[in-house]
Amino acid sequence: MRDSKFQELIGSIDNLTPSQRQRLLDKIGNMEHEQGETRLLERADGSLPQCPHCGTSDPVRWGQSQGVQRFRCRKCGRTFNLLTGTPLARLRYKERWREFAEAMREGKSIRKSAELSGIHRNTSFRWQHRFLNVPARPK
Ligand SMILES: [Zn+2]
Repeated sequence: MRDSKFQELIGSIDNLTPSQRQRLLDKIGNMEHEQGETRLLERADGSLPQCPHCGTSDPVRWGQSQGVQRFRCRKCGRTFNLLTGTPLARLRYKERWREFAEAMREGKSIRKSAELSGIHRNTSFRWQHRFLNVPARPK
């Protein structure tokens, strides 16, 4: 955005009605929320992670994939994120995990669970396998 446009925008904020102001604040709040979620998949101190493929610690930030920060290793050239190497790596449709896991817990068949959460049956076989490999945390 050009500076002059931005000045206009800032200037126009004074003229907002209370409800418009609230909508603006909600919008900004949502943006910060989304950025916050992205940061969850980076290290809390902002340091760069080790490459899970070759074990060196020399990555660069390499764009984002589905809201998750990706890194690229400067040594081996492969990309990864903080889930790489865990059972949850590369699972898509994160919003469907819960539905799928819920259906499984209720004792529904893999096929039925897949249907209910709208994923392909082949995906569900893979997911079931991964979910079962996630170490249970005492809680
Ligand atoms: Zn590497």
